[in-house]
Order: sequence, then structure tokens, then C-alpha cells
Amino acid sequence: MASRVGVLGWVTGVLSAVLGALAFGAVLCLWFPAVLTTPALRDVYPMEIVRTTIKMALGVAFVLGLLSVLLKRRKALGLTGAGLALLATLMGGSEVAVATPVARSNHVGLDWFLLDLFLLSAIFVPIELLWARLPQPVFRREWRTDLWHFGISHLLVQLTVFLTMAPAAIFFRWAVAPELQAAVAAQPYALQFVEVLLVADLSQYTVHRLFHTVPWLWRFHEIHHSSRTMDWLAGSRLHLLDIVVTRGLSFVPLYVLGFAQAPVFAYVLFVSFQAVLIHANVRWRFGPLRWVLATPQYHHWHHAVEPVDVNFAVHLPVIDAVFGTLHLPADRWPPAYGLAGAPVPDGYWAQLVLPFRRSRSRA
Ligand SMILES: [Zn+2]
Ligand SMILES: [Zn+2]
Repeated sequence: MASRVGVLGWVTGVLSAVLGALAFGAVLCLWFPAVLTTPALRDVYPMEIVRTTIKMALGVAFVLGLLSVLLKRRKALGLTGAGLALLATLMGGSEVAVATPVARSNHVGLDWFLLDLFLLSAIFVPIELLWARLPQPVFRREWRTDLWHFGISHLLVQLTVFLTMAPAAIFFRWAVAPELQAAVAAQPYALQFVEVLLVADLSQYTVHRLFHTVPWLWRFHEIHHSSRTMDWLAGSRLHLLDIVVTRGLSFVPLYVLGFAQAPVFAYVLFVSFQAVLIHANVRWRFGPLRWVLATPQYHHWHHAVEPVDVNFAVHLPVIDAVFGTLHLPADRWPPAYGLAGAPVPDGYWAQLVLPFRRSRSRA
């Protein structure tokens, strides 16, 4: 009985600390919207819903925190959650007024980080608990490192979006043909979406293979392959240079062809969800759909210790089939994930500087 109370104390403590931290961050965003929030998101927030959600999160974090303090011998988690909720409430909570228009300034994407973390963990933690491919705890080994990767890449969203789009506009303006762009953008949105998927994945496939074959590039990409545990957070482990180069090169053909904004935006939403799903610790195999779209089983094989250099595409397995790199056995999953060679150190900063430190040869 005592242990069941202990587990309940732990679960309520974790939920309280997570919700308290998210809500506290959200209140900070209300206080300093110009420097902590993303203009593109700011413009579309349904503020009534946002404020109600913050209010509920503050209330739940506080109550669960107190509950955890009562149930658990170690009080740190519950006190953290209840304390953050209390502090955020004293700062004005969900009612903090935002003066509009918000000044345009350089910013970190704290809102994007909090929102994406909230949504993705609310979707994937229950799914991974119910349909786990491997039994593993939510806070598995090296989760802090991957949360750092997730956090930094979200906070730096202004920089990464700029670095993704600027090279195409600077170096490939000469390739733009207005008549072609007009014809492309005039197609039905659904068709453009499929074309974007195909065009972007063809370049992703190429860039991804280069990251595997060119030793100097592999030093950056091996960070992504160093995860020995697969789950929804593991895919965030990407070196910043890997992110910027892959996205920047994949954006070039989209820019040159001139797709309309709506299908490109739909693609960005799609990829940000699918990139998380394909790493998830989920045993779903998706029936015949797995030959059409990349699934967890398909991308888990890309992270296998053996065989290496298979399943490079991000969306469409048919690209791997065409180039002879598809590996999708009917009902098998990789026995182990990660690198066969020299281990990559744990910790965000160690992984950030690793490619520059010493020459690491591929195993
Ligand atoms: Zn790879
Ligand atoms: Zn991956």
C-alpha cells in the first residue's frame, strides 16, 4: 500500500512540477512578449483559450503539488510545482495584460518551446505508455540531454528560420522563373502539398546521405545517431549545424519552384509532427501505410546499430526503395539503437562542441 501511495506522490509531483514550470514560463511570455514570443505565433494565438489554459495549469499544478507534498516523503517536486504556480499567480497569472501592438524585436521562442513541449508530451507520453514498443520509463536515460536539444532548437527558432530561408534567397535568386512559380502556385493546394512532400524529401534524402558518407559531415550527424533509446524526444537530438544545413538545402527547391504559402505551412506542421512520431517508442506498424509514409518502425531501423545506412528518407520510403536503401522487414524491429563505434558523450554542450574537438572516424 505504502508503495502505491509513493507512486501517486511521485506522479502528482512530476505533473505539478511540469505544469508549474510550463505555466510560469507562459506568464513570463505575457510579461515580456516582445523578447520571449514568436511573432508568427503571436499573430494567431486564440488568447481566451491561452489564458484559460494557463489558469487551469496554475490551479492543477498547485493542487497536485500540495497532494504530492502530503503523499511523498521527499517534497522537492511537489514544492517546486506548487511554488512556481504560486509565484506565477502572484505575478498576475493568466490575467497579465499585454499591450498591443507588441514591438518587433529579436526574440527567443519561449512560447514555441512551451507550447510544443505541452502538446507533444500530452500526445506522446500516454501513447508511449499504452502502446510501448519497448518497456521503458518516461524519464529514460539521457532524457535531460534530449530536452536540452529540444529546448535550444525551439528557443533559437528566429535564428534557425532565418538561416533556413536566407541562403536560398541569397544564392538562388537567379534560378527563379516567375512564370514557372505562378504555374506552380496556381495548382490545387492538396496537389502542391504532395509535391512539396516529394521535392523536400528528395533533397532531404540527398543531404542526409551526404551527412552519412562525408566524414566531416558525419561528425555532426552522429550526434543524432548517438541515442540508444528511442522515444518522441529522441529525435530532437540534432546538432544545430545539422538542422540548419539540412533545412536550408531542402528549402532551396521549394523556394525556386515558388509553392504557395498555405501548402508550405501545412508541410511544416506535418513535418514537425511526423519527425517526432517516427522516433516514438510506439509499436504501431500502420499496415500497408508503412510502405507509403515513414513510420516509427521504418525510422527506428535508420537508428539501428546494424545495419547502417538504410532508410534515409524522412517522409517517403519509396525514395529509399528507388535508390536501394530500403530496409523494412515485415515484423522485426532493431535489437539495439545507437553507434557501433566510439560513444558520443552525454550532455548538450559536450555534443555541441564534439564535432570540432577531434577527428572521430566512423566505425
Ligand atoms: Zn542519419
Ligand atoms: Zn532520427
